[in-house]
Amino acid sequence: MAFLKYQADFLFSGTEILNSDAVLITNEKGMVETITTASEAGDDIQQFRGLLTPGFINCHCHLELSHMKGMIPEHTGLVDFILNILQLRHSSEVDILEAIANAEAAMKDNGIVAVGDISNNALTLSQKLRGNLQYHNFIEVSGFSPAIAQVRFETAMAVYQAFKTHFPESTVMVPHAPYSVSPQLFQLIDSVTAQHISSIHNQETKDENLFFLTGEGLFNKLYQAIGSDISTFFKPSGQNSLQTVIPQIQSPKKLLLVHDTFTSQADIDFLRQQAQDYVFCLCANANQYIENQLPPINLFRQNNCNIVLGTDSLASNHQLSILSEIQTISQYFPNIPLTELLSWATINGAKALNMASKLGSFNAGKQPGVVLIDSLSNNGGITTNSQAKLILPA
Ligand SMILES: [Zn+2]
Repeated sequence: MAFLKYQADFLFSGTEILNSDAVLITNEKGMVETITTASEAGDDIQQFRGLLTPGFINCHCHLELSHMKGMIPEHTGLVDFILNILQLRHSSEVDILEAIANAEAAMKDNGIVAVGDISNNALTLSQKLRGNLQYHNFIEVSGFSPAIAQVRFETAMAVYQAFKTHFPESTVMVPHAPYSVSPQLFQLIDSVTAQHISSIHNQETKDENLFFLTGEGLFNKLYQAIGSDISTFFKPSGQNSLQTVIPQIQSPKKLLLVHDTFTSQADIDFLRQQAQDYVFCLCANANQYIENQLPPINLFRQNNCNIVLGTDSLASNHQLSILSEIQTISQYFPNIPLTELLSWATINGAKALNMASKLGSFNAGKQPGVVLIDSLSNNGGITTNSQAKLILPA
């Protein structure tokens, strides 16, 4: 069998950045044989300027919202953003499907090989069945009034079954957010997620904590707008949103907390007392787009939290690119080493989605895809001009 050999200025293995002497060797299908030295590798080495990395893992996306690209103004805050989303969901199916296909193609082109994708309906299913990318399907449910818990659960169950038929090991039902799921609905969701990976939008805006602490703030505007009289069923818990809902999400083995823009040390301490694994999924560009904020990333690092990256959707991001997420984080947190950022983008994401046996690093036997990041700075750092390109599919 012929081998493929790749050499660049730098090679990120999944755990460390190796210098230009390192050569990655795969078989014809892209399965990793080894990383060796140039002198050991022999002839026919393909050479590149830049850094080679395993394919990126996008742990949080809503592919089905791709048709909303550029439709929602920036910096409106989360509540107005959600109200916009509710209005814009009604586009023609042809437009929605075309936007889904284009967004997926762009993700593949810029080095994403696997996606944790939120689905409220089955519109992405036909595209996912083409097998261009690997997916973990999070079938999302919402409904804040306890009266609609059963009907929302049953509607979601139909979508869940449609995906589960084709993706039996990588489909799970998940709650949308603390402010949009009732205790009764949490209980129904929890009944079908035992030992699985779950996900929830977490503390994306300051008012989310305020709402659970005191019942005040902008979320009241949201319920008014959708005609939901929450006074008949909601009482503030007096705790942050995260501490209010975590006790209601007990059956999944692992929980992806998405956004975490207003997560505190007390919240992290609270999570430490739970039996579950928690993964902090950062979507920096979406936080900038919606709230003009960034999560307390150094707080998560100081606490040795498990961090992964997501793009969120084209409703709240100008592109679905993990490199762009890295660039934004680097810009505001220049202290974070590139090795660490790349680990979040690759091996941590693969582990979070239970895909690390095949993806996330250049360990022998994996088939993680090979991505080239070009236009590095003189000392090998990622710049605002850097671009990522998939040069070998996963
Ligand atoms: Zn999201």
